[in-house]
Amino acid sequence: MKHLAEYKEEIHSCSKCGLCQSVCPVYKITGNDCTVSRGLFIMLKGVIKGDLKMSKNLNRYLDLCLKCGACSKFCPSDIDVVDIIASAKAEYFKSHFFEKIISFVQKIFFFQAAVSFLRLFSHNMQSKKFEKKVIYFGGCSGKIKGNRAVVKILNSCGIEVITPDFKCCGIPFYVRGDSDNFDEYKKSYLEIMQKYGITDVVTTCASCEKTIKSFSSDINVKNIFEYLRENNLKLKLKKKTKVTFHKPCNIDNYDDIKLILENTDNLEYTEMEGFDECCGLNGISKLREYKIMSKIFKRKYENIRKSGCKTVLTSCLGCEAALSFYSFGKYQVRDFTEFLAENAI
Ligand code: SF4
Ligand code: SF4
Repeated sequence: MKHLAEYKEEIHSCSKCGLCQSVCPVYKITGNDCTVSRGLFIMLKGVIKGDLKMSKNLNRYLDLCLKCGACSKFCPSDIDVVDIIASAKAEYFKSHFFEKIISFVQKIFFFQAAVSFLRLFSHNMQSKKFEKKVIYFGGCSGKIKGNRAVVKILNSCGIEVITPDFKCCGIPFYVRGDSDNFDEYKKSYLEIMQKYGITDVVTTCASCEKTIKSFSSDINVKNIFEYLRENNLKLKLKKKTKVTFHKPCNIDNYDDIKLILENTDNLEYTEMEGFDECCGLNGISKLREYKIMSKIFKRKYENIRKSGCKTVLTSCLGCEAALSFYSFGKYQVRDFTEFLAENAI
């Protein structure tokens, strides 16, 4: 993780055009420039110059950012906002003991204890042998759900799946600014990859994909939907099902997903309004900001309801958890890979 000062030039390249305001889900609610990249950059410039302290108040604005990256995709200066915000969070993290305690608790109770417990109920499936082999990076999702869906789908494409025991990709620690834990997860991933000596990796989760792609350019990471497109696998659901899709912010290959949504027999796809707007996952734990965050959740909930679909598909464990959290039993949220493996293979 780069030091905040190393982003000086990038932060300076912000032209203050304000285009980020039109896409930022948090700014749309608060109308406060401190909650969007333009205002955050003005404050971070002050921090780098030494005119401003990395205060609790500034940290509150960094935390309000959902790290969705919507502003980056729209930014004429092509600034990678999420990396800069994560690096600013790391500055705050270093000097605030309470942040370290929260991160420790998150690691021990959620990413270790809870995932290990849920893992007791999941089983891995033995893959068939083929000449073409890929490593499955399941992250937390792979531990909780097992590899069955991935093995079923890739075996149908004539690809063997190898399932090492990976840890989390580390993204929750990255956005929190906990660079030590993030580096530990990165190291563990690279060590396992070196041990197997295979450079093709498949993921089903957009956030894992984005994170592990940043670890090494020598490893060829693809989402499972890219394999489906390359192998021209024709899919047909066992029965007609109406679905909508929530596009995770971290997704790299939405065109491949859209191709499957539109070309799978018996799948009736409706694109919901705001299908590409952030689910608000990073806001779920921010109880102090619940008034702001609940508006983001409510908007998504209403868009899903308006689509008339009872099944919402997505391809990120975090989005799946966030969308389920505020579904109130009105619709089911499914991982797209699992949905296809159960209903079409
Ligand atoms: S869109 Fe980019 S350049 Fe324009 S104000 Fe926002 S961060 Fe700055
Ligand atoms: S990353 Fe998302 S929430 Fe954060 S400033 Fe950009 S658009 Fe707003």
